[in-house]
Amino acid sequence: MKLTGKTAVITGGNKGIGAACALAFSREGANVVIAARNMSDSNRIVEQIISEGGKAAAIAADVSDHEQVKNMISRTVEMFGKIDILINNAGIIADSFINKMTLEQWDKVIATNLTGTFYCIREAVPYMIENGYGRIINTSSVAARKGAVAQSNYAASKAGIIGMTLSLAQELGKYNITVNAVAPGYVATDMTSNLPEKIMERANKVIPVKRFGTPEEMAAAFLYLASDEAAYCNGAVLDINGGLSL
Ligand code: NDP
Repeated sequence: MKLTGKTAVITGGNKGIGAACALAFSREGANVVIAARNMSDSNRIVEQIISEGGKAAAIAADVSDHEQVKNMISRTVEMFGKIDILINNAGIIADSFINKMTLEQWDKVIATNLTGTFYCIREAVPYMIENGYGRIINTSSVAARKGAVAQSNYAASKAGIIGMTLSLAQELGKYNITVNAVAPGYVATDMTSNLPEKIMERANKVIPVKRFGTPEEMAAAFLYLASDEAAYCNGAVLDINGGLSL
């Protein structure tokens, strides 16, 4: 098992890519904390992990709220004694052409995706420094690499995450804390389930492997970056998109 004795916080771990990470990490021996807003979704994943013999807890937290993040991180340490791995996966979209994008759509996406990632890292890092160990893995997107029509807010948030990842990899390496990112392409989750049929068809045509990715395929990349096998991987952005960014 790759993560025995480790404690992992996974934001947005109650569905989609985050839930696949929670299950994969638990199956490799990690204690898992699921931090998201919807507790019934979170409890469902916690119950699944416990039924498989793993250890997990759900903590309600809106990552765009600093007080809630602070509380979630300190409760994790109270429960499990430390934080070894932080997966910043919580994210939203609020698509619109720029001339119609409301200030609220802009602010909400930046607050959740970018500022939420900052809050979680800021609160977790002191515990990681104290512990002399940390693996931080952020979630970017193919939209950060190529942009996307009607996603200027989302692409800006995900490109910001790459800049934050590269900066913190340099800042925190000396504490034995690595900072990397995964940049998924189209993945079959709730986030993409409402895409118009025409866009789905076009996406499947342009993706070199001709299909959407699965949450489990994304979780495999997060797991690699969280494992000791990736100890020398710092400041990397893994593009897991079937070749879409080429
Ligand atoms: P889902 O919509 O399936 O899940 C999103 C998760 O984020 C949920 O667990 C949700 O939980 C949580 N979340 C949303 N807002 C907040 C918040 N304010 N505070 C805490 N948790 C929050 O999305 P995916 O699994 O598809 O996406 C996961 C990540 O991967 C996101 O960062 C996304 O941008 C990124 N990504 C996804 C792609 C895709 O094609 N699916 C492509 C590229 C990147 P709750 O609502 O209970 O809070």
